[in-house]
Order: sequence, then C-alpha cells, then structure tokens
Amino acid sequence: MHPTPGPGRIQLAGRTVHLAWLREHTSKTAPLFARARAEDGHARCLCRSPALRLVIRCTRAGRYHLAGWPGEGEQHASTCPFYKLGPGHSGRDSYSTQAIREADDGVSIRLATPLTRPWDCPVNRDTAADEPHDEGHARRTVGLLGLLHWLWEETQLNTWHPSFRHRTWHQCHALLYRRLRETSVNGQGLESVLYLVPPFTPQAAAANTAALEAFRARLGRHGSTERRGLLLGQIKEVAPTPYGVAYRLAHQRTPIYARAALHARAARSFRHAFSRAAAEHGARVALFVVERSPGGHLVAADLAAMLTTRTYIPADSSHEVVMADALAARRRAFTKPVRYDSADAVLPDFVLTDLHPAAYVEVYGIHGRESYDQRKAAKREFYQRQGAWLIEWDVAQPLPPLAHPDRSRCGPGA
Ligand SMILES: [Zn+2]
Repeated sequence: MHPTPGPGRIQLAGRTVHLAWLREHTSKTAPLFARARAEDGHARCLCRSPALRLVIRCTRAGRYHLAGWPGEGEQHASTCPFYKLGPGHSGRDSYSTQAIREADDGVSIRLATPLTRPWDCPVNRDTAADEPHDEGHARRTVGLLGLLHWLWEETQLNTWHPSFRHRTWHQCHALLYRRLRETSVNGQGLESVLYLVPPFTPQAAAANTAALEAFRARLGRHGSTERRGLLLGQIKEVAPTPYGVAYRLAHQRTPIYARAALHARAARSFRHAFSRAAAEHGARVALFVVERSPGGHLVAADLAAMLTTRTYIPADSSHEVVMADALAARRRAFTKPVRYDSADAVLPDFVLTDLHPAAYVEVYGIHGRESYDQRKAAKREFYQRQGAWLIEWDVAQPLPPLAHPDRSRCGPGA
C-alpha cells in the first residue's frame, strides 16, 4: 500500500507512522528505529512525494530521534517539522562544525561560556561574551544568544502558520524540552545543565519547586569543581535591588539576581528586549548563566535576551513585533530568520513561506543613518536580483497590504 503524503507522517522500517506517535512512545518504538537504522540507514518524511530522507539519531542514553537530512531542509513542505529555510537565511551559517556538530548521537554544541571550572580558578567574566571573530572565519564556539536562537530555530519557534491560532509558554516548553534531551553542550547533556522554566499550574507547583531545587543543588562547589548552570525563561519584570536588579520570571516565583553592571551591559546589548515597548506589546525570553550565591540565591553571571511577540516569534525591534502580529492576523505563514551571535549578519526581516518562491518582508525603522541606508539598498538589490517579491514597510507610514495574493480580493482586511 502506498502511504498518503502529508506533514508529520514518517516511514520507518517499512511502516508509516505519525511523528507525534514516535515522539510519545520513545521506548516502545526503539526496536523500530533500530531496525530502520540497520536495514535502510534512514527514515523517510512523507510531507512530499517522492519522500525525503531523515537522519536517525540515538543519544548516548539510548533515545532515538529523527533529524532533517543535511542540506535538504528547504525541500520539505513549509508546514513540515523538518522544514528549514535555505542558506543565507540564518545566523547559523557562520559557525564551524566544531561549534555545532551534528552526529549520530545528536547535536553537540561548544558553548563559549564554561559551565564548570576548578574551584580555585578566578572567573574571567569577559572571555565568555566576546570571542574574537574574524570576518570570513567560521566561529568555533556558540555564544548565549547563539544558543537561544539555535533552540528557537531547531524547534521552529521562529515560524508561524495560520493553523497555530495561538502559542503559549506551555507549547514552547514542550518543544524546547524535547530538544534539550537530544543535545549536549560542552560535553554534558543540555537537559542536565539547563533549567527550562516549566509552565505553572497548581497541580505541577510542587514538582516544579522540586525540579528547581534539584537544579540549584547542582550549582556551586562540588569537590574541586565549581558548577554553573543555564536557565531559560521569560522575563516578566526587572525590579531594582540594593546591588542591581532582580529579574522576575513568568511561571516562577524565584527571581534571578544580577549586579547593576551586568544588567547595564545586557540592557545595551539587547536594548530592544529591555525597551518599554517590549514589556508592553511583546515578551522577552532570556537565557541566563547562573551561579548559586552563598545565601542560596540564583545569581546571573551572564545573559542573553530576545524580544519576541506574545506568541514567542523573535523580533529585532518593537516594529517587527507589530509586523509579525499583523502577518499572523492576515493568516500568513512566515519565518523570522535569527542572527545568532552575528550582530552584522544581513538577513531578511521575515520570509513568507506561503508563496513559491518565498517572498520577503523588510521593516525600515531608521532614517538618515548612512550605514543603515546602505544596508537597505544592498538588501533591495539582492531581492531584485533574485526576482523575489518584496513587501516593504517604512514604520513612519501605515502598514502595507499584507494579505496573501490569492485572498487579497476577498474583502477588507487586506
Ligand atoms: Zn517533511
């Protein structure tokens, strides 16, 4: 029997199954994965006909999972979980295979920030954030913003499809948590070193508190080693304290403390995430490097913050939040390319994936700055050369028509 094509349907060792089913029943499906790996060497994604190959990976803990075949992400249906934009659409292109290594047992990432150090070794707080990077040379390590963007891109949290309706932290948590279990950072399982703030429910409160306690207990001195950890959550409020600030997080009572100097640097480096507009109209997600203070508090040693819409689509400015929300309201399918650690990466602001070839959206917020105008001209020329459809919005003007061309004649709202 021929399997019906469609997103989420997988062919594994001659059987057609749903990806969601495979992910839910990891132990029950292990023999099927093992057989497919031995007999075919790969699985098949049925989002397109002919089917596309998928890599079968098995973590050191013996957990099987699937990954897109390298270089074939663009060929999947735009609604497929293995769909990826082609080269030139992600800051990921700037890393060497040392920084992000994809192997049979999962992805291993070399994070610039050390998470363990000998107990008597003084901390060099600046080495982590500012790795020298020569133009034209691939980065050998991943910074905090790079890791945050990688997680968002791998879980497709930077994409939107009209079928989604809404996206909550609960859904983000589920997608991210699975990815943590398939990834290692600096030789350790990401799941063990990163605490992903779980969604709060009264039923889960006790379990959440216990999980945070277990994470806190891992930090600090253990024998001759001092351990730090990563914490990923949504900043709800930045409150002043006598020594700096307390980051109050959504879904968690325990705040993260930071010295004034660190917060000042973060507010400069991630100014859109810490702007007033971000707090009012969007959300901000942060990845912290945390230490345990002598008093048992969680203290940030470093952080990266990302502005997003309320549905967690990343945005590089509050104007992009407006654009992303408007595209979602017009029922467009789109992806927000993320720059990782490359501040100077030239990427489209948004890519509309419901058109073939994909179309682009550019948001122009700054006037009269030469470098910005040059970049704008370079981008325009690039799109013209590609023959790509470009929607431009100068934020001093009303939003341009954003409806899909097939629906634009259906009435108001275009
Ligand atoms: Zn697919």
